[in-house]
Formats: sequence, structure tokens, C-alpha cells
Amino acid sequence: MALIVQKYGGSSLHDGDAIQNVARRIARTQNQGDKVVATVSAMGNTTDELISLARSVSTEPHPRELDLLLSTGELVSCTLLAMGLRSMGLNAVSLSGAQAGIHTNAKFGNAKIQSVEPTRIIQDLDNGNIVIVAGFQGITDDMNVTTLGRGASDITAVALSAALNADRCEIYTDVAGIYTADPRLVPKAQKLNEVGFEEMLELASYGAKMAPRSIELGMVYDIPILVASSLNDEPGTLIHRGAEMSNSIGEIRNRVRGVATDINVTKITLLGIPNRPGSEADVFEPLADADISVDVIVQSTVVDGHTDLTFTIKGTDKERALAVMTKISQEIGACGVTAADGLAKVSIVGSGMQDAPGYASRMFRALADAEISIDVITTSEIRITCVIDACDIKKAAQAIHSAFLVESTE
Ligand code: ASP
Ligand code: MG
Repeated sequence: MALIVQKYGGSSLHDGDAIQNVARRIARTQNQGDKVVATVSAMGNTTDELISLARSVSTEPHPRELDLLLSTGELVSCTLLAMGLRSMGLNAVSLSGAQAGIHTNAKFGNAKIQSVEPTRIIQDLDNGNIVIVAGFQGITDDMNVTTLGRGASDITAVALSAALNADRCEIYTDVAGIYTADPRLVPKAQKLNEVGFEEMLELASYGAKMAPRSIELGMVYDIPILVASSLNDEPGTLIHRGAEMSNSIGEIRNRVRGVATDINVTKITLLGIPNRPGSEADVFEPLADADISVDVIVQSTVVDGHTDLTFTIKGTDKERALAVMTKISQEIGACGVTAADGLAKVSIVGSGMQDAPGYASRMFRALADAEISIDVITTSEIRITCVIDACDIKKAAQAIHSAFLVESTE
């Protein structure tokens, strides 16, 4: 008898019929002889609606109150799902994050899970129940309810899988799985059968739709995660360690797993920084303190004792980053700060690319043939990223996708 953790997203639970569909799927899994723990997101757009409701009574909702409010979205879906299962004659128990033993720090709105004590879940399972856990939430040591960040029911699912030593973690959503590119930009994008954790992390942080932290957890605890549709029985995409290994030893011309895109990019450049030990730390520490995450970082070579430093941030962080950088620029005696928005990142992702020649050149040629100019380039072991104009993103993603993921399968 296997223990399976399943997660159902909000779009799979948008109304009573959808909830009954999920109940039937869970029942089927149990009928196959497996134990099931399911975690759920809030129904449809409930979380957004609760946030606007909070804003209608307060311009800055109190973080503690907001988290307790948002946690109710998942309580609604998990209790309804348990009722649906019971009406089918099955034993089912719903639990809040706190009842399920999910302990977090006190960072409201973006709390981190510190431990999971699944005693109650195990008891309920042992008593023959299907256990439904409210996703996206936990409780602090001093009994405040917290939420784990937008989209974080995925994190609940993987954390529960780790704590329960589950045999499988299955994430059910409204799409067929993970794609080789964003299908809205690249209509020829194909569903992947498998992908490695690190590759998925790059794809996730570049716009595909799973909470990155859930992939990190899966990687650390080595939990294979299946992402599949809740609407049919197609096989979905398996995220697992073996995928990375097979890619690295696979066919040398075909190691690109997917094309990642991100359109919400602003580039900040600090000009004429006096070159001395510590100037980079002086720039990035205040950004970290302001909770602004920095992505592509490029420093030019030193000319006449000065250097330029360029990095990208999320477009939404632009004003805050500029305020921080203007101050730092004066403090360290740099010549000034510039910002450019309306940019995008396009990346090829695949493990083993580093050990095989020709990927960068083919990517640059594909962009050149599409008459797209490249602003900044960075690479990591499994990724090559170009910063380009946001208005070119569709053309760029399609050109690169055809260069690697359509032609190479000929
Ligand atoms: N309901 C939460 C959100 O909308 C969590 C989730 O869907 O995973 O962000
Ligand atoms: Mg999600």
C-alpha cells in the first residue's frame, strides 16, 4: 500500500461540480489500494477576492489579520472536499495547516515552513481516513496563522510528502504538465514527459507555474513530483532527479529541455564605480536589506580604476531599487545610476549543456536571424540567458524554440 500526496489547484476546485470531480479522483486513488493525503488551494480566485476585500476596509491590511483571513480560502475548499468524499460514503477528515502540524516562522504573507509534525495526519490515516489538508498555511510557535506566499499550496504538498515519507507527490492543475516553453508565446510548445529538479527550477523561476520553493524542497528530499491535469488521465510531467542524469549523458546536440521567458524585467546600471575591495558588497547589501532580489549581474572590466555594474530586477521593484541605488551611488562615489525597463529575459535550459559545444552560438544565431539584438548575456551550468527588448519576446522565444526543440527532433 503506497502513500500518495496529491495537490489540487484552485482552478480544479472552482465550484461544487469541480470539487466533486476532485473527490471522485481521490476516491479512485484510494480504491487502487493507496492511502491518500490531499492538499488544496482556495477555490478559483478566492485569494484575490479576499485580498481586495481586505483592501476595501484598510489601505494597508494588518499582516496578521490578512494571513488569518487568507487562510480561510483553503479552509473552505478543504472542508467542502471532505464533505464531498463523505457523501460518497468514504471516510475523510479535513485539517487546517495548524491541525496538520505545519509550523512556520512569523513572516506573515511569506512564511517559511520550519517543521512538519504529522502526528494527527498519521492518526487519521491509520483510522482509515482520506486526509485533506488546507494548503498555503501554517502556524507560528505563538499560535498565529501564517500563509506561505502566493501559489504556495505546492509547497504544502511537497513538505507533507517529505514529512510523511510519501511514495509519490502528485500536483494536479488545469494544464497537462510542464511545457518546453510558455504555450501562450510559443504555440508549438510541447509537454515534457520528464524534467530534472534544477531544470524545473530554472523554468519555474522564469515563468512556468510552480512555486520554486516546492521544487527546491523536492530536490533536497529527493521526492519525485508528478505534474498533471485534474481533468483527464494524461500522464503529465514527472520532475525527478533521473531526468537530469539522462539528459547529461544524452544526445549531445539535443540537451535543451525548454525555453524560459520572463517579461517583467528592469535593468539597473551603476556607472563609474571606483574599483576597490568591497564596492560590490556595498551595492548589493542594501538591496538585499530592502528585500529586492537581483538576477542577472554583469560587471564590466576596470578602466582607469572605474567599472560599471549592471543587474536586472523585477519591474515592480524598480522605484524602490532606484531609491536605494541613488543613495549608494553617492556614498561610494559612483558617477550615477540609470534604469531601463520594458526588457525581457529569454533562456535555454538543459542539464549537460555546459559539457557540449555550440549551444550559445546556436542561440545567438537564432536571435540574429530573427533580427533581435541582445542587451546582456549570462550563463549558468544549465542555462544561457539573453536580456532583450520585451516587445521581441514572442519572436525570440519562437525562434529559439524552433532552433532547439523542433528541428533537433528531426
Ligand atoms: N490560494 C493561494 C494563492 O492563490 C495559494 C495557492 O493557490 O497555491 O496564492
Ligand atoms: Mg499554483
